[in-house]
Amino acid sequence: METQKIIENIKTEVEQAKNLAAEQISDLSETEKTELISRIKHLLKKRKAVLVAHYYTAPELQQLADETGGTVADSLEMARFGNKHPASTLLVAGVRFMGETAKILNPEKRVFMPDTRADCSLDISCPAPLFTEYCDSHPDHTVVVYANTSAAVKARADWVVTSGIALKIVKYLTAKGEKILWAPDKHLGDYVKKMSKAKDMLLWPGTCVVHESFKADGIKQLKKQHPDAAVLVHPESPEDIIAMADIVGSTTAIINAAKNLDAPRFIVATEPGIFYKMKQAAPDKIFMEAPTGGDFATCESCLRCPWMAMNGLRSLARVLENESLENEIHVDEAIRKKALIPLNRMLDFQNK
Ligand code: 13P
Ligand code: SF4
Repeated sequence: METQKIIENIKTEVEQAKNLAAEQISDLSETEKTELISRIKHLLKKRKAVLVAHYYTAPELQQLADETGGTVADSLEMARFGNKHPASTLLVAGVRFMGETAKILNPEKRVFMPDTRADCSLDISCPAPLFTEYCDSHPDHTVVVYANTSAAVKARADWVVTSGIALKIVKYLTAKGEKILWAPDKHLGDYVKKMSKAKDMLLWPGTCVVHESFKADGIKQLKKQHPDAAVLVHPESPEDIIAMADIVGSTTAIINAAKNLDAPRFIVATEPGIFYKMKQAAPDKIFMEAPTGGDFATCESCLRCPWMAMNGLRSLARVLENESLENEIHVDEAIRKKALIPLNRMLDFQNK
């Protein structure tokens, strides 16, 4: 019953996000784009704000972050950058859990997002009350949650991890003989469990609507047409897709592989926003989207994360113009303090 409700909820939110994302790009001429970009640059300075963007956001946002002293990064580095940077205001272009993570780490800073309704199917799949109940029924398990979760879920965790560090942390915990309760991404959890040889690791059944949609048959066909192509896969993808990978890794690992692997072309099983940085990293190489399909695909072979696509020039300019409260991220202080503990554990582990 709960599961059915969650699936319905994800479907509704995907539809809403697609409509909101369409508003960001519709009727935007090149002249309007240029005007918006220069207004945003001016406002970033005026507000003493820095733009922290994820690799899946639109190319023009990534370019803006690069040109204005901000950063374009994976979710781990986004958290670290916001933490180190002296700006009093962080503008996070990504999805809500990224804004919340920034606020948890930087309570003294104001954190804004182009649209705080930008969700994530993994976050939606793991409501805090249900998750708390599950954790309470397994008190002997160490609770490890993926960063793609709400602040309230993080507050119930012993560890927070991102895809860039999940395997290292689970290996470390497994070596200490700990039993693990993992949430919410079952594919990433399954991958980490196999690779770490964790014996007792419970997996929450969440999935990412983007990575869930890649099709092994399609990749096989593409590989047949291009035998010189290497396959790069984000570990939120299902097992049969991971099995075809030359490299499995976080968004940063995928960009590095494009640069470092000795292949002329790549089949890429992750959100295509990443192509902007991959092309910068390896301008002479060819990048192809891994084929997709299914209910949640935003179109057959152009699988944008509907929530990442809600971050556009229009919404960015609007939030800087008004600093409107609905765009500001707030986290309840009691929850923030609890969520900070497992987040800092991850950052300290990374710094060791
Ligand atoms: P990264 O941590 O690899 O950036 O992944 C975040 C994400 O949401 C992938 O779908
Ligand atoms: Fe969430 Fe998937 Fe979008 Fe990443 S790509 S933010 S995991 S829905």
